[in-house]
Amino acid sequence: MEGRSARDIWEAALGELQVQVSKSNYRTWLEKTTGLAYDNGQFVIGVPTTFIAEYLDQNQRSLIEKTLIGITQQDTRVHFHVNGRHEEPPVNYAFDETTPVREASPLIFNSKYTFDAFVVGSCNRLAYAAALGVAENPGQNYNPLFIYGGAGLGKTHLLHAIGQVALSAKIEVLYVTAEQFTNEFINAIQHRKTAEFRNKYRSVDMLLIDDIHFISGKGQTEECFVHTFNELHNASHQMVITSDRSPKDVPQLAEQLRSRFEWGLVVDIQPPDFDTRLAILQTRVEREGITLPPEVLEFIANQSEQNIRELEGYLNRVTAYAKLVRTPLTPRLTAEALKAIGKKAPKKVTPKTVIESVASSFQLAPSDLIGRKRDKETALARQIAMYLLREETRCSLAQIGQELGGRDHSTVIHACQRLAGDIEASPSLRRKINEIRQGWPQ
Ligand code: ADP
Ligand code: MG
Repeated sequence: MEGRSARDIWEAALGELQVQVSKSNYRTWLEKTTGLAYDNGQFVIGVPTTFIAEYLDQNQRSLIEKTLIGITQQDTRVHFHVNGRHEEPPVNYAFDETTPVREASPLIFNSKYTFDAFVVGSCNRLAYAAALGVAENPGQNYNPLFIYGGAGLGKTHLLHAIGQVALSAKIEVLYVTAEQFTNEFINAIQHRKTAEFRNKYRSVDMLLIDDIHFISGKGQTEECFVHTFNELHNASHQMVITSDRSPKDVPQLAEQLRSRFEWGLVVDIQPPDFDTRLAILQTRVEREGITLPPEVLEFIANQSEQNIRELEGYLNRVTAYAKLVRTPLTPRLTAEALKAIGKKAPKKVTPKTVIESVASSFQLAPSDLIGRKRDKETALARQIAMYLLREETRCSLAQIGQELGGRDHSTVIHACQRLAGDIEASPSLRRKINEIRQGWPQ
């Protein structure tokens, strides 16, 4: 195995890590790393900044080493080398959904998310047609266009596709997630810049808002959005909105918004059938110039029925493995490459893993949760950590308090109860917590 290049091994490892940690975790810490050298059980990983090196060293070392050991079948110790980035990622690909969008610019769109690259099947035909319709004739057909469906089914892809058509037609378009919209609104209030905020959103020709369910229950932000909506609608400026469910099913959504979302066209995207999944995988491998036998693609297409992002993760993992073993891939080898994924009995996690996973999903350090910081984000992250420790480990309340910097057990009870109530009421919180749960190594 040492004859293989560090680069190939690390690619295979990234393929595995990608399915083991949460998406935001992967993007923040792992995406821009490279395999630099591998010799005598010592593996050097190139990372762009000291900060990332320190974070990975403190929080992800054991997971990374475990993954590398699985691939190399040898005891492996990792070292992080700063500035080891050998190549810049292509500019458009560096798009990050969590980066606030400041102005309309081509860089906000992922160049891979085009109409051409979108595979149409019965599950998404209407959504596709409607999206293409508003991209070509904005403001003229249905306003707003509301697209809903489960995670990983192509909602963001369609929004970006619309945005890119609009841009090329020199239409001033703004893409924003509802989370960014909310954060910007709160910032604007804090810094007394609400007039600027209003102008920014109300002056565009086309507004694309992703994951609108995020603002449900956030009264002030919802109210602000109603005004934005009204102005854009009156001016016949196109809005396209996505959500994980239909307007009537988004809990706690302000009534004014719910009815407005139904003014235009509401379309859903269903999970893809087998043929569509296969077609998506085929398009992917063709575009990336990879060859995989058809039965392998079929095998992968059967691994996930509900989520195309997941399918792509499996495909990445299998192709990385194919490069590594350099033998033709059979379904059996594919199964081997996929072995560690899914369909396993969940393992009890350690308190350390819980705290690390929660911290990283908030882009905080574990020490922030253990320490005394009291800002809203940290406090919420800490509550989630308490709640998950209670749910997922055998720790007593006192131990949980101990793990989180010596807090007493009534604080823990209070946090768990409060969070349980909040989870009940907030789908976005529920989703966040599920994401954290899925993110930790199994
Ligand atoms: P959502 O926003 O609904 O959670 P995304 O738009 O992020 O999902 O899609 C997840 C991944 O699946 C993306 O890489 C996207 O390109 C891909 N994808 C989704 N639907 C399709 C499709 N119909 N054809 C090709 N790729 C798709
Ligand atoms: Mg999305």
